[in-house]
Amino acid sequence: SKRSRLDQFIAQKLQVSKKAVRLLLLENRVQVDGRICKEVDKQINEFSQILLDGNGLQQHSRQYYMLNKPTGVVSATKDDIHPTALSLLDGIDFELMHIAGRLDLNSTGLLLITNDSQWSQALMAPETKVDKQYLVTLANPIDDSYISAFSDGMYFGYEDITTKPAKLEVVSEFQARVTLQEGKYHQIKRMFGRFRNPVVALHRESIGNILLDNALKQGEYRPLDEVEVLVTE
Ligand code: URA
Repeated sequence: SKRSRLDQFIAQKLQVSKKAVRLLLLENRVQVDGRICKEVDKQINEFSQILLDGNGLQQHSRQYYMLNKPTGVVSATKDDIHPTALSLLDGIDFELMHIAGRLDLNSTGLLLITNDSQWSQALMAPETKVDKQYLVTLANPIDDSYISAFSDGMYFGYEDITTKPAKLEVVSEFQARVTLQEGKYHQIKRMFGRFRNPVVALHRESIGNILLDNALKQGEYRPLDEVEVLVTE
């Protein structure tokens, strides 16, 4: 959750005790959204402006973007051969930005890019149980027998893991919509690999309540709005 108590936030930011923070508040040295605040348990979020002696405590503003990732673009910060997803965003500080939840080179769709690592970690942690939805196009026809195989989970000996229950909906003969709450290495391709059915195209449609904006053509991006950022609440 991005919501926190004012005293916790300041204590963590300044690396001081909550008792020290209480003193700062009593001395009228802290402002929240333009007003002096004395409440230790004041609820704040990432959009609250916190000042100490008139100076902002946020080091840099938090930034969140969605990109409609094209094929042939890597979900990495550096690559010698392929363009990177970050290079598609104009005027951002590359040093600070990272990708929340990678997609394979040839996968397309919703890619989240941010400088807020607490947010991206919370969003992508399996415990958060955020649904990631993919539209998958297969080389061979699929049928209803795939549904239980995906919901039962599959064991992968290489990492000694069993996949968490995944939802598969048959969209058409060659297309399925798959919902995962985790993201193991090449997970979807490997799951269809069990049926010897190669993935021809893989498109991420959503992460939690963040849906890929229809208005974005491949390679286009936009900032997330406030409601989308609150996905981890
Ligand atoms: N599963 C895959 O195999 N590839 C992706 O890009 C995402 C999920």
